[in-house]
Amino acid sequence: MNRRYLAYIDGQFRESDQWFDDLSPVNGELVARVARASQDQVDEAVGAARRALSGPWGSLSPAQRAALLHKLADRMAEREAEFVAAEIADTGKSMPQVRTIDIPRGTANFRFFADLIKNVPSEAWHTTTPTGQKALHYTVDKPLGVVAVIAPWNLPLLLATWKIAPALICGNTVVVKPSEETPGSMALLAECIDEVGFPPGVFNLVHGFGPDCVGQWLTEHPGVDAVTFTGESKTGGAIMKAVADGVKPVSFELGGKNAAVVFEDADLDKAIAGVARAAFTNCGQVCLCTERVYVHRSLYERFVAGLAEAAKGYVVGRPEDTDTVMGPLISRQHRDKVLGYLERARADGATFVTGGEVPQFGDDRDQGAFVLPTVITGLADDHPVNREEIFGPLCHVAPFDDEAEVIARANDSDYGLAAAIWTESLTRAHRVAPRIEAGLVWVNTWYLRDLNTPFGGVKLSGIGREGGLHSLGFYREPSTVCIALD
Ligand code: NAD
Repeated sequence: MNRRYLAYIDGQFRESDQWFDDLSPVNGELVARVARASQDQVDEAVGAARRALSGPWGSLSPAQRAALLHKLADRMAEREAEFVAAEIADTGKSMPQVRTIDIPRGTANFRFFADLIKNVPSEAWHTTTPTGQKALHYTVDKPLGVVAVIAPWNLPLLLATWKIAPALICGNTVVVKPSEETPGSMALLAECIDEVGFPPGVFNLVHGFGPDCVGQWLTEHPGVDAVTFTGESKTGGAIMKAVADGVKPVSFELGGKNAAVVFEDADLDKAIAGVARAAFTNCGQVCLCTERVYVHRSLYERFVAGLAEAAKGYVVGRPEDTDTVMGPLISRQHRDKVLGYLERARADGATFVTGGEVPQFGDDRDQGAFVLPTVITGLADDHPVNREEIFGPLCHVAPFDDEAEVIARANDSDYGLAAAIWTESLTRAHRVAPRIEAGLVWVNTWYLRDLNTPFGGVKLSGIGREGGLHSLGFYREPSTVCIALD
C-alpha cells in the first residue's frame, strides 16, 4: 500500500487539496502521495512557529530543551527500521549506507547538540574607561526566531537534522521544507516529534516544490527570521534575493566541484581506493564528492587503470541486494542531466576509461535512474565537465607536473567546498592543504568528519559555517548587556 505524507502544522497533521507523487528511483513506481502545502498553510506554519516562540518553548531552559531532544533521538532509534525503509524508498541508496551512516547520523545530530549546549559558556568583561568609569558587560544569547529549514534530497534526514537540531536547542522554532524528491524521513520525524510531546508550533513541516511554491513562499515570508539552506548554488542565489529586503541571516551549504590531488609520493593503492570512494559514494551525489582528479604524471597511467578497475567494483543494483554498492541517481530527470554531460564529453573527444552507460537489467530497474560508475580523461580544465557540478557517479582524471601548477588548477574553480590531497609527505601535506581554496581539505582520506568541526564552503559553495559551536553561532544572536558599576 502506498504511503501518504502529510504536513505537520501547529501540532496537527494536515491534508491538502493538492497532492504530488513521490516516485522510486529504482523502478519509477509510486512510493507515496505527498500533501503539497498551500500558501495559506505556509502562513499558518509560520504563524504557529511565531506563537510557539513566546509560548512554553520560549520559557524552557536549554537543559529542558536538551532533555526533549534526547527523548526525540530515543524515539527515532526505536523507529530506526522505518526511517531506513522510508529513506531507501525515496533515494534507492544501498541498505548498508542508510543503515550505518545516514539514519544513525540523523539521530546523533539531536544528541550531539543537546549535549553541546550544556557546556557553552557566556561571555563577560569587566572594563574601566580612561576616565575611570567601571562597567560589567555580558552577553545574553537569544534565538533568531522562526527559522526556515530548506533541505536537499541527497542525505535527507542527516542534512535536515543537522540544521533542525541546533536551531531547536538554541530556542528557535522551525518550519521545515524537505526536498520534493525525498519527503519520507521528515514525515516520520514529524510523527516522532508529535509522539514525544514537543509543544505545538515548535516544529512544522510543509511539503512542496521550490520556485513559485512552498520553498519560495517560505523564504519570502515576512514572519521568517532566518533561512538555513542546503542545496544548489543557484538556489542559494534565489533565496538570497528573496531575503534581501528583510536583511535576514542566511546559512548556505551549497554545491561543490571538488578536486583530488594525487602526488608522486602518494600510496597509490590507498589513493585509488580513496578517490573511487570519493567519486562513487551515494552515486556521486554527496556535495563533497570528488569530480576532478589531478594525478602526477609519473603515476598517471597506473592510477587511471587502477581507478577504472575499482569503479567496476561499485556494483549497481537494488538497495536491498547484498552485492549492491551503488544505487540509482535520485530521478530520471537528474539522470538525464548527468547523461547530458556524458554526451557532451563524448562529443568533445573525451576518453571513457570505464562506464558512461546506462546499465540494462532486463527487469523493472530499466525504468529507474541508474548510470554506471564512470571515469573520463582527455578534457581541458575549462570544459564544462570540469567546471560545473554534475552530481553523478563520474570523475575526470588529468595529469600534472608540479606542485604549484596543480594547486593553481585545483583552485581554478567557481566552487570551494572540499578537496582531498593524497601524499605520504607530511611536509607537503602541511604546505599544500592551507593553499587549497576550500572549506575542508582532507589528507589521505575522504568524508571523515566530526560534528564539532566547522563545515561550509567558500566561493559558490556557501556562506557561513555550521558544526559544533559554529552552528550555535548562527542559530543564536548574542545581545550585550552593559552595567555601570559606579
Ligand atoms: P536544490 O537547490 O535544487 O533544492 C534544495 C531545496 O531547495 C529543495 O527542498 C528545493 O525544493 C528547494 N528550492 C528550490 N528552489 C527554491 C527556491 N527558489 N526557493 C526556496 N527553495 C527552493 O538542490 P538539490 O538538487 O535538492 O540538492 C543537490 C544540491 O545540494 C547540490 O548542488 C549539492 O552540492 C548541494 N548540497 C550541498 C551540501 C553542502 O553541505 N554544501 C550538502 C548536500 C547537498
